[in-house]
Amino acid sequence: MTAHIIDGKALAKKIREELRADVESFKRSTGGPIGLATVLVGDDPASEVYVGSKRKLSKEAGIEDLHRRLPMDATQEQVAAALDELAADPAVSGILLQLPLPSHLDAKALIDRIPWEKDVDGLTTTSAGRLARSVEGLLPCTPQGVISLLEDEGVELQGANAVVVGRSDLVGKPLAQLLLQRNATVTIAHSKTKDLAAVTRQAEVVIAAAGVPHLIGAEHISAGAVVIDVGIHRSGEGLIGDVDFDAVSKIASKITPVPGGVGPMTIAELLRNTLKAAQLQN
Ligand code: NAP
Repeated sequence: MTAHIIDGKALAKKIREELRADVESFKRSTGGPIGLATVLVGDDPASEVYVGSKRKLSKEAGIEDLHRRLPMDATQEQVAAALDELAADPAVSGILLQLPLPSHLDAKALIDRIPWEKDVDGLTTTSAGRLARSVEGLLPCTPQGVISLLEDEGVELQGANAVVVGRSDLVGKPLAQLLLQRNATVTIAHSKTKDLAAVTRQAEVVIAAAGVPHLIGAEHISAGAVVIDVGIHRSGEGLIGDVDFDAVSKIASKITPVPGGVGPMTIAELLRNTLKAAQLQN
């Protein structure tokens, strides 16, 4: 079997184009702008690139760029004050605090200063609680991007055995919740899981979000499974994922590539969240 390659880049582009029209009609009907405040503390080069693409694509979608930059040595109080100011500003629909933060800052405490209606990354404790209780809110972008890819591909989740490899607050845990909401039978594997391959081989859908290059090989996948690779790693061969694509694509029925799979979906979902945030506040 040779797997169908899921084109995340194409779906993300389609979502952004649709969104542009929705943003326009929201602005027309409310008479007000939609603004995204990306907050970058310090000058980490990878974070600069991520924030740069978020700003560029949000502007293309008709969303105002309300970027804030703070120096590397900004104190907890200074970052908190900047977030509080953005939280109180009606021109700001969404706030995104770019992670990781410099190590002297308490990231969880800062994230929790963002009001849930402006939490376009879906990472505050309130947003996580709303997701756990299936109350409407803003969902974390990468997990929602994975679900959008699966749904666009027509993958049946109801009753399916789904294994999520990874249990981070950013990806694994919220993804497991979203799969559960769609009636999948969900298993969460992590670094203490015994015999990972025996667990993942039971799955019709495997989602790798472990942050370990090529962790998932042919021995982890049963014939015909759908495999989504969230991992991103820079290597000598360019960007690679948590899945050994060459080996697994011979066994799976559908697979996401790295790059061009989940990555582009994350920003598309961020832009969707920014419009939803504006709607929630309207
Ligand atoms: P993380 O916070 O480091 O969490 C990794 C998770 O994987 C942990 O729960 C860990 O288990 C588990 N794990 C580690 N080694 C394992 C192993 N050998 N077997 C099974 N489980 C293992 O990472 P993250 O933030 O969730 O990100 C995961 C990956 O996705 C990274 O490569 C990251 O760069 C990528 N990512 C991509 C996007 C995107 O837009 N495409 C967005 C976010 C993240 P323990 O809990 O037991 O430690």
